[in-house]
Amino acid sequence: MHLADVALPVPLDRPFSYEIPPALAARAVPGARVVCRLGARRLVGVVLAVREGEPPRGVRPIDTVVDEIPSIPTDLLAFLRDLSSYYFAPIGQVVRLALPPMDRETEDASAEPELFQRRTGVRGPKPVAWVLATATGQTPRPLRGHASAILAHVRAMGAVPLPRLVASWPSARGAVKRLADSGLVTVEQRLAEPEPLFAETIERDTAPVLNAEQAEATRVLLAALREPVPATFLLHGVTGSGKTEVYLHAVAAARERQRGAIVLVPEIALTPQLVQRFRARFGDNVAVLHSALTPKERWTMWQRVRSGPVDVVVGARSALFAPVAKLGLIVVDEEHDPSFKQDEGVRYHARDMAILRAHRVGAIAVLGSATPSVESEQLVRAGKAKKLRLPSRARAQPMPLVEIVDLRRVPAGPTGDKRLSLPLVRAMAGALEAGEQVILFLNRRGFAPAVRCEACGEALMCPSCSVALTHHKVQGLVVRCHYCDFEEKLPSACPKCKQVNLALEGIGTEKLEDSLRLVFPKARIARLDRDVASGKRIEEVLARVRAREVDILVGTQMVTKGHDLPHVTVVGVVNADAALFMPDFRASERAFQLLVQVAGRAGRGDRPGKVLVQTYAPEHPSIQFGCQHDVAGFLDRELLDRKELGYPPFSRAALVRVEGPDESAARAGCALLAEVARRAAVERTTVVAGPSAAPLPRLRNRFRFRVMVRSVDRGHLRRVLTAVDQARGQLPRELIVVLDIDPVHLL
Ligand SMILES: [Zn+2]
Ligand SMILES: [Zn+2]
Repeated sequence: MHLADVALPVPLDRPFSYEIPPALAARAVPGARVVCRLGARRLVGVVLAVREGEPPRGVRPIDTVVDEIPSIPTDLLAFLRDLSSYYFAPIGQVVRLALPPMDRETEDASAEPELFQRRTGVRGPKPVAWVLATATGQTPRPLRGHASAILAHVRAMGAVPLPRLVASWPSARGAVKRLADSGLVTVEQRLAEPEPLFAETIERDTAPVLNAEQAEATRVLLAALREPVPATFLLHGVTGSGKTEVYLHAVAAARERQRGAIVLVPEIALTPQLVQRFRARFGDNVAVLHSALTPKERWTMWQRVRSGPVDVVVGARSALFAPVAKLGLIVVDEEHDPSFKQDEGVRYHARDMAILRAHRVGAIAVLGSATPSVESEQLVRAGKAKKLRLPSRARAQPMPLVEIVDLRRVPAGPTGDKRLSLPLVRAMAGALEAGEQVILFLNRRGFAPAVRCEACGEALMCPSCSVALTHHKVQGLVVRCHYCDFEEKLPSACPKCKQVNLALEGIGTEKLEDSLRLVFPKARIARLDRDVASGKRIEEVLARVRAREVDILVGTQMVTKGHDLPHVTVVGVVNADAALFMPDFRASERAFQLLVQVAGRAGRGDRPGKVLVQTYAPEHPSIQFGCQHDVAGFLDRELLDRKELGYPPFSRAALVRVEGPDESAARAGCALLAEVARRAAVERTTVVAGPSAAPLPRLRNRFRFRVMVRSVDRGHLRRVLTAVDQARGQLPRELIVVLDIDPVHLL
């Protein structure tokens, strides 16, 4: 009997067997979506494998096959199976990462092919009436209304779709009928042109001449593309060195060899310029996948990639799963960015998995950054990746001058607040007078990060999380939890001691903006953080900065990303210490990267840039190396520290977290898994730490405990995790167990 192993969207980590009826055999192939019964439900699954064999007892047939051609090509399917196994993630959830977006949602009894079509509105091309000019030399009789203008237009174009005429001349239908009656035009039904992928068109550009360093990096990548073997490259280019142009050349070279490319960026809304440049170079061959698309737009993009005409995909981490055929190249831009790690569901790291996917199909992976991650640097040192360097800025601008402002010594500025220190205010004033722009970076949004009672010392806390509430002024004097979005009116008195003595603590971007309005009343100030901007709004703010309608841009990490804003000459880091003292072994690395990235926004035009870094810890290595743009020095030191402490990349780590509504039950559950891990960790290579309360001990009313497992040996770590994975079933049902392999966000 023909049997199919099918991945179904259920948490059970195993495929289910179904019989393939002979009529469906041609289409029920690996990668195809099928509708199957599981108990009383009908679910959409994906065929993983097809085999001959004895049917298991009670085997049921596949109901229908959804796809004409399999949704997931075979090489992508094999990669997904590897990913599922590496992360201990159920295959049924993993395959959904690669399915077209609309269809992922249909996992119930209503899942029928016709329904997919109705939901997505995709029904194949529909015929459209085209108006064609005829060869009659006749001079037309006097024509009524817009008929003569329409006729002139049709004669000029040769043929025009009727809807386009109607868009310009609402009365076009009648006019065309009269013109056709007079034999001046003919009308015929043609299949519609495919809808354009993008609403607005963009002017095409041509590849510029590369500088010597770009040319050398490109030469190495092109040589690697000619080889059938996989390879990984770390493209280390300083901020403003022109990495994007190297990517563009590599993608063009891959396409010349009929191979597709995927370009991953941390957050697409923050990189509108990069997307524009890909579209300008490759036109309609580029699909851009991002969360602001409508489901239908996403579906259309996905469909065109799967069926072939589009072979370049630009998108955030989930674009890693785009069904690009004959993949030749994967670029991970800003590879150090922590947002490449998915933090819920299937907890994969898009950078690590990009290397794996490229490896499986003999493609090359290019990881680009001005501040390479410690992990990628170690790949180079271990001989698993080659480093390419762009050590100078593309337009020969000097790196910006960085000045440390020691907050222990420096006088406060005009507002009396040290965080707007005198040196910072003076530098800003100088830039503004010269008609230049300023960026201020502060890693806290809201008005005040905490509200504390001066009588009893208690801070206002979120009722469901162990997190202080942030005061937001702009949206009507509220306090809000940044983790669960709880919000309430700012109380007038302390909820604990009832005294009317609440004080605002600290400074967020909102307050910074307020203070700046006092100091620079004439300046045009814009703010960029998650409270004011998402998706299109981010692009708008950046466009206003670029059009010089903004003098001072205040913002969170959003301002540190790769924006190229040529008139920014002064960058202020309001509080460089915020990132330094996080409970995370990557805190130093993160602080260093933020510093170098935000400094890189300064002086990208003709005038040199200046960066002021305010800190209470000026001697901290992250600040020292950051201020000297000394990436190599920082990496040397950080790798040494990590090696001594046995942290990644010198070991592999996994986090086991147990969450539940009852504190002691969650602790007990975590203790049980810790015990299981210890028993399985027989080799001395493996360290099991915990159980302990998570750095964020309560979130959304769930108590959180964790165990960290580390091992220098991947196989040993795997054995421990397998034991934990099998034991999780013994825990009470209300406990959630999270297995996070190579964790990045340790909260
Ligand atoms: Zn109080
Ligand atoms: Zn909360």
